[in-house]
Amino acid sequence: CGIVGYIGSREAYPVVLKGLKRLEYRGYDSAGVALLNHGMKVYKKKGKVAQLEEEVIGKDIQSNIGIGHTRWATHGEPSDRNAHPHVSNNGKLAMIHNGIIENYVSIKNELLKKGYTFKSDTDTEVLLNFIGDIKTNNECSLEEAVRIALKRVVGAYVILLIDEDTPDTIIAARKGSPLVIGIGKNEHFLASDASPIIEYTKEVVYVNDYELAIVKADELILKNLGNEKITPYVQKLDLELAAIE
Ligand code: GLU
Repeated sequence: CGIVGYIGSREAYPVVLKGLKRLEYRGYDSAGVALLNHGMKVYKKKGKVAQLEEEVIGKDIQSNIGIGHTRWATHGEPSDRNAHPHVSNNGKLAMIHNGIIENYVSIKNELLKKGYTFKSDTDTEVLLNFIGDIKTNNECSLEEAVRIALKRVVGAYVILLIDEDTPDTIIAARKGSPLVIGIGKNEHFLASDASPIIEYTKEVVYVNDYELAIVKADELILKNLGNEKITPYVQKLDLELAAIE
C-alpha cells in the first residue's frame, strides 16, 4: 500500500502513476488517482496500477496537482467503490489514506445522524466527511479542519487531501505511517518512501508523527497539531539509495 502526490508545473498524472508503480512492491489490491482542473477528477479501480492506467485512457487527466493511492483493504472488500481516493459528500474534497481509523464507527454514526451518506465501507470515507463537516460548520480552512479532526482520531494514518476551493495546495498529515516530501524547483513530491521521488530530487523532508504539511508548488509549511510552525529538516538522499534508480 502506498501514497503519492505531486504539485508543480509538470503534468501530475504521469508523475503520480509512475510513483504508484514504484510503490507496487509494497503489495495492494486496488489503485486510484484524484486530479484537479476545473473540478475534481477521480479515477480508481480494483486490481493493478496497469488496470487503472487502462481505465484512464481517453479521460481528462490534465492537471498540475494530483494524489494517488494503492490500497491494502482493511475496512471493506477490495472493489472499485472501496478504492481510494474518496470524495466528500459535497464533491469538493478528495482524500487518500493508508492506515486504520480505529474509532470510525462512532464518528460515522454522528455523520449518519446529520444526513451524510457513504458510497464505500471504508474508515477513510468517514474521516474525509468528518473533515468536510468541520470545514463547513466552522467556516474554517481545510488545514484547520484537518487539525481539529485528527485530534479526535484514534489510529494510524498518512492522509493526503485536495480541495476544489484551494487548487494550489495539498494537505498531508501522518501518524504511524511514513511520509516523505521531495523538494524540487517550484514543485513538491509526496510519497510513502523515497522511491517515487528519487528521480526528480535528492532533497527530502521526512514528516514526523502528529505533523501536518501544507504543500504548494513553491512553498512547504510544516505544523504540529497545535498550529505551531515547525522548521522542515531537509535531508539529502544518500547516493547508495540514489544508485538504485
Ligand atoms: N483503511 C483504509 C481502507 O481500508 C486504508 C487501507 C490502506 O492502508 O491502504 O480503505
